[in-house]
Amino acid sequence: MKKTITCIECPVGCTLELDIENCRVVKVSGNKCPKGHDYAIEEIESPKRVLTSTVLTENLPIILLPVRTDKAIPKAKLMDAMRELKPVRVKKRVRAGDVIVKNFMNLEVNLIATRSICD
Ligand code: SF4
Repeated sequence: MKKTITCIECPVGCTLELDIENCRVVKVSGNKCPKGHDYAIEEIESPKRVLTSTVLTENLPIILLPVRTDKAIPKAKLMDAMRELKPVRVKKRVRAGDVIVKNFMNLEVNLIATRSICD
């Protein structure tokens, strides 16, 4: 099977032409550097995404705090990750970048605030 994707590792945005067999990338072309090759393999064989969402707060000026993972997590875990967020409650003021959940889902990523809650 052939597939075309765009490398998002840098602003150049190379168009990558992939040959895929049995869910494995067997050939990558169109990449201007080795990063494109690695990106193509990860995107097809084990895609990852940064989770962005919100969590509830308690007794704070905003009801929902925007959060994200500080690194990408496996795309296949995104729905589970959304469920894991439901019981999370932020009870004290935080600054953007503060860790809300350390080692989120044992995935070696942290869930961090993307907004400060000020006085
Ligand atoms: S293949 Fe290399 S040059 Fe092309 S977009 Fe990816 S990182 Fe940039």
